[in-house]
Amino acid sequence: MDIRIDKIRKEFGDFPALHDVSLNIRSGELIALLGPSGSGKTTLLRLVAGLEFPSQGRILFGEEDASWKSVQERNVGFVFQHYALFKHMTVFDNVAFGLRVRGSENRPPKAEIRRRVEELIDMVQLSGMESRYPGQLSGGQRQRVALARAMAIEPRVLLLDEPFGALDAKVRKDLRKWLREFHDRTGHTTLFVTHDQEEALELADRVVVMSQGKIEQVGSADDIYDRPQSAFVFSFVGDSAKLPVTVANGDVSFKGAPTGLRTSTPNGEKHIFFRPRDIVLQDDGPAFEGRILSMRRLAGARIAEIDAGLGEGAERVEIELPLGVPAEQGSLIRFLPHRYAIF
Ligand code: ATP
Repeated sequence: MDIRIDKIRKEFGDFPALHDVSLNIRSGELIALLGPSGSGKTTLLRLVAGLEFPSQGRILFGEEDASWKSVQERNVGFVFQHYALFKHMTVFDNVAFGLRVRGSENRPPKAEIRRRVEELIDMVQLSGMESRYPGQLSGGQRQRVALARAMAIEPRVLLLDEPFGALDAKVRKDLRKWLREFHDRTGHTTLFVTHDQEEALELADRVVVMSQGKIEQVGSADDIYDRPQSAFVFSFVGDSAKLPVTVANGDVSFKGAPTGLRTSTPNGEKHIFFRPRDIVLQDDGPAFEGRILSMRRLAGARIAEIDAGLGEGAERVEIELPLGVPAEQGSLIRFLPHRYAIF
């Protein structure tokens, strides 16, 4: 089902947690809400769920204005980071719960509940574990039960708030892949909150980057990573290097010296952003110049910290040295980014 978030503002007392947030989510999309702590991700998710109501603006489920509807009326499924399964109930009973507590007019017959629950348990790959209790499952298995439980009510939208946040890195990675496949099979419109950029970029059809209660950018992983539209998105997603520059009629200069780089950014004091690996070393001609202050070795790469501009007022910046280039602490490095953005 399509969801339209239309000019939402949410205040807690005087504090605006969300300002003028608009977003159209297409039926079947897997959307990641990505941002630092306090950026408003959970608040937005809770508004879609019906756990909070907007101070201004509307939320449409299809054509229907759901802004003031209750959680039950919206028919959404949730999974939270620490989703408390009922400890005294088996896997089967946990998954069946949402169907069994329905009013008698909406409750499917027993045999139908059994069929549906078994299908879901199979879908989350926990067949054979129906009679186990949550205490007898791993963290990853418990989150899969939580997902099956959320799905049992056939929600119109699935809302996941850091669903894998409490799990260790390896399990998280496996579940991420698994969730993507699960989503592709079931086709639910899904919104999930994460502060982990890798998780967002790998999983989502579109990533919504949030900062300070606003949406900074919405796009595919490629849009967000390769075409960041703001300094915030550039720095928040992926490794980035940043240097102060002056723009005059499209020419970019650094500390008064031309760099030979061009931009369509208007004149002024700006910053150039680039990925540490997007650089080319220069023998001569204009370039950023600096000495290596220190080096770090990563798997398959060397990162050098450079004092760009040399001497007093130099700017520290980290770049990735191409393999095979001889370099050590104190070596003079001249480089230009081959891909960059200026904000
Ligand atoms: P995190 O990743 O830490 O969960 P988040 O991006 O999900 O952060 P929110 O939980 O949406 O952020 O919070 C956004 C802002 O709104 C924060 O500054 C938070 O302190 C504030 N806030 C959230 N809920 C309430 C509330 N019930 N009362 C007052 N302020 C709140």
